[in-house]
Amino acid sequence: MGGIREIVAVIVPADSSVGRAAQAIDDMSAHLPPPDDPRACPLCSTQSWPCARFENAAHHVQAAGVRLGELVPPDLHTRLWPLARP
Ligand SMILES: [Zn+2]
Repeated sequence: MGGIREIVAVIVPADSSVGRAAQAIDDMSAHLPPPDDPRACPLCSTQSWPCARFENAAHHVQAAGVRLGELVPPDLHTRLWPLARP
């Protein structure tokens, strides 16, 4: 039950927008819910998704100039409104 969302690792320059947000992007990805249970954070069992730690990381990502929509799977976009821009 729960399922696991597949991930990939990429290499980017440390001084790029994504590079500067790398830790926050890692944190965001760790707090993404599984594909078959979009309300469940795998790390924050007492909160429904998006959990506070995801939102905190998302704010750091946005502050670095990276769009959340590029990092969050499409099936979760509707749950992120108004955090994610269409
Ligand atoms: Zn969480």
